[in-house]
Amino acid sequence: MSDQRSTNRRGPTSAAGAGVQVGRILGVPVVIQPLWFVIVIVIAVSFGPTVRGQVPSLSSGAAYAVSLVFVLLLYGSVLVHEISHVAVAKALGMEVRRIVLQMLGGVSEVVEEHPGKPGREGLVAAVGPLTSFILGLIGLVVERNLDPGTVAWVIAREFWIANLFVAAFNALPGLPLDGGRVLRSFLWHVTNDKSRGTLAAGWVGRGLAVAVVVVAVAKPHGWGDTTIGALYLVIIAMFIWTNATVAIAQAKVTGVLPTLDIRSLTRRAMPVAAELPVAEAVRRAREAGARALVVVDSLGKPSGLVSEAAVSALPPQRQPWVAVSDLARPVDPSLVLRTDMNGEALLQAVQEAPATEYLVVDNVGAICGVLARIDLVAALQAAGLR
Ligand SMILES: [Zn+2]
Repeated sequence: MSDQRSTNRRGPTSAAGAGVQVGRILGVPVVIQPLWFVIVIVIAVSFGPTVRGQVPSLSSGAAYAVSLVFVLLLYGSVLVHEISHVAVAKALGMEVRRIVLQMLGGVSEVVEEHPGKPGREGLVAAVGPLTSFILGLIGLVVERNLDPGTVAWVIAREFWIANLFVAAFNALPGLPLDGGRVLRSFLWHVTNDKSRGTLAAGWVGRGLAVAVVVVAVAKPHGWGDTTIGALYLVIIAMFIWTNATVAIAQAKVTGVLPTLDIRSLTRRAMPVAAELPVAEAVRRAREAGARALVVVDSLGKPSGLVSEAAVSALPPQRQPWVAVSDLARPVDPSLVLRTDMNGEALLQAVQEAPATEYLVVDNVGAICGVLARIDLVAALQAAGLR
């Protein structure tokens, strides 16, 4: 199993969870999730008896060793699949954060472009299943040239079956699979509307998730034959359903994004010195008609964002004795939004750095005000309800 995931520019590396970095390929870190090692063992063990059935001369220990070699080859081909995504993305000048080998296969975290071009995304997605298909054909040719019943023959045979399966599965036209990305690119190109493409490919993805569960329960021949195989399919179905659902939700939000205007959402902010008491700062802000406080240094450079919630939580009798800096959150670069950041870029920045307030600056870095997350959420909800 494998998929290629687009990812946000500045976000934490939590998209696929933590992992151990094992090296770099094409300059991109390759990370292995701890659970991956467990899954390798589980598959190797569950596959051992099949190997023994195909090569009866093997001792049971040797059968499990062959099974382990096969599993490692399978994940090796998943890695090649991911490298193909990365190679095309890099050749097109796109940024790739990392490759993650995880329980269900691999993920190449290609940094999403805004606005992006359907052709580029489609190419990056399409090369994955194509690569697996070619690997499968190579395995098939090798198998045909080996004596049946030998260890090498079994490995080559399982290798081509697995790669053709990975190719076919990933080519299914639903998000988050590669085929879903190709479908999205196609619809995006035709309608000139990315969110429409995402919605359609997301719904196909949900349909596929349901179909995979049906296959797992019906236990046809193949991986669904065993309990572990069926369980694996159900986990894959859950993975597809969850990611398709996220894609659908994002597409709905993206659909209303063009109506968002950061300037109209920005609250007027009162710049205050760090040591100023909260009571005085609030008084000055009210007088000036400002609805936010930004702590600035002696040069007027913003250093902290005062949380509205923290001010409201502070009892009025204490407000003269607490400095605004005590209620301020340092202005991390991720909390700074620009007025030219509209729509998708704005939403992405806010999603990547969860906070209650953000500093809004213009294109020369001058303070324009503060964007409160609740204002943004309210605007999105209002737009969505229209
Ligand atoms: Zn892929």
